[in-house]
Amino acid sequence: MGIGEDAPFWREKKLSELTHEEWESLCDGCSRCCLHKMEDEQTGELFYTRIVCRYMDMETCRCTSYENRTILVPTCLKLQAETLQDVYFLPDTCAYRLLAEGRDLPPWHPLVSGNPESVHAAGISVQGKVLSEEYVHPDGWEEHVIDWVE
Ligand code: SF4
Ligand code: SF4
Repeated sequence: MGIGEDAPFWREKKLSELTHEEWESLCDGCSRCCLHKMEDEQTGELFYTRIVCRYMDMETCRCTSYENRTILVPTCLKLQAETLQDVYFLPDTCAYRLLAEGRDLPPWHPLVSGNPESVHAAGISVQGKVLSEEYVHPDGWEEHVIDWVE
């Protein structure tokens, strides 16, 4: 950023002050939040699997039913600034989590790079790494625990 240029909106504003359009643009399109997780009942620790929701488009990593997602998938997250206190359930690369924790967006974020493909090029998105839940029985999810999402 040069002298005299305005800081981008995500540095200038609080999450609760963003317009709907700004809020939506923060999503980097990684689809990591569409992966199924398993929780250790003893410790509460979350484990990500490479099993992804059936409504995710495998090529674009975008939701195919975004407007109806919480009806079709009751556990689907509808993120809102007012309810974003507990961000541990979001991947640590998620823009909403980063900003809620006072951190900045990374260079591969489309808002920073100016290129929606940069999240895929940087290997952050789930593109090419996942299996649809349609093809894996829930009893077998344990075999698909991954370590590339925290
Ligand atoms: S993890 Fe965050 S940034 Fe990535 S798709 Fe989900 S909401 Fe968007
Ligand atoms: S309904 Fe859409 S946004 Fe929700 S988990 Fe499935 S693919 Fe992701």
